[in-house]
Amino acid sequence: MSELTSDQMIKWLERFAALLAENKDHLTQLDSAIGDADHGANMDRGFKAVLGKKAEFQGKDIATVFKTVAMTLISTVGGASGPLYGTFFLQAALPAGGKSSISAEEFGALLEKGLSGVIQRGKAAPGDKTMIDALQPAVEVYRKAVQGGESLADALKKAAESARDGTKATIPLVARKGRASYLGERSAGHQDPGATSTALLFQAAAESLGK
Ligand code: ADP
Ligand code: MG
Repeated sequence: MSELTSDQMIKWLERFAALLAENKDHLTQLDSAIGDADHGANMDRGFKAVLGKKAEFQGKDIATVFKTVAMTLISTVGGASGPLYGTFFLQAALPAGGKSSISAEEFGALLEKGLSGVIQRGKAAPGDKTMIDALQPAVEVYRKAVQGGESLADALKKAAESARDGTKATIPLVARKGRASYLGERSAGHQDPGATSTALLFQAAAESLGK
């Protein structure tokens, strides 16, 4: 049974921060087409701030790590994505309790709780052209794979692929939530920036936890 430790969660956050820095311009470009051209900067600033708190949360339990991430994102990222990603980590912290290590199944429960939190907070449904279009399929695919007895590495790889597919599938959609929805039909034909960063979150998980 693979166990995921608090240290590995920190590696996941570090990998995500690195991918966000690498993709900052791309995310901003996507947001300039259907938003206000700040998603790359928002996410990069938020996760640089998270890494700046590493000394505070290193060696602590998983819930403490995630709560610190949440509070940091909420306080440093203006825009929709800060509170939404913040809610994801805040809710994901709950099932983690005071644990310093969790099973692959428990990790699924934590992702699920994070997803429900984002849905509750942002009120977006699948197909609304938001991060939910990457997050929901990734969480579902992960849980099914783990329940079906697949290895953690395979489950994470599938989740990352499914987040990427979900992101591509946002291209033809008309946005019904967030800033892009102000554009109405004109939002179609562009990939959603928040779904794109969520796909990076799962890519980071596959690369850092799936070993
Ligand atoms: P803002 O739109 O405030 O400038 P960002 O540009 O950082 O914030 O983030 C935009 C992304 O946030 C969108 O691409 C979308 O994926 C996500 N988003 C916006 N509103 C919602 C919502 N209600 N539910 C889920 N995701 C949302
Ligand atoms: Mg924006």
